[in-house]
Amino acid sequence: MLDGYPRTIDQAQALDTFGAELDRAVDAVINIHVEPDVLIERLSGRYICQNCGATYHKIYNPTKVPGTCDVCGGHDFFQREDDKPETVKNRLEVNVKMNTPLVTFYEQKGLVHTVDGDRDIDAVYKDIQAILTKLA
Ligand SMILES: [Zn+2]
Repeated sequence: MLDGYPRTIDQAQALDTFGAELDRAVDAVINIHVEPDVLIERLSGRYICQNCGATYHKIYNPTKVPGTCDVCGGHDFFQREDDKPETVKNRLEVNVKMNTPLVTFYEQKGLVHTVDGDRDIDAVYKDIQAILTKLA
């Protein structure tokens, strides 16, 4: 199983070539699709206490008292550049631009299985497992 590879058409073609040589062709591509807005919300929610460095997430792990650090009681928080919605959005756009031709490449080969990633982990896992079971 390859995760996050190939990333480019060149790599996909190279993989096809050695897959053929080794008689181990790619037999499925699992594309976990998450709506960009959902992904931005997940990835950009992290914030950090200015005073003690404790990290929180506005959806998954907020402070118990809004605006107050659970650890030190501080009230000042910041976001790393990487966690800011604008940065996340830009990064995502770059990724979509890179991935779209790859998904098309494998769709033309009839290998793509798309899984709806906008659900909880168990539901996504079950779908992936069902796809893998069919392949085995
Ligand atoms: Zn703190």
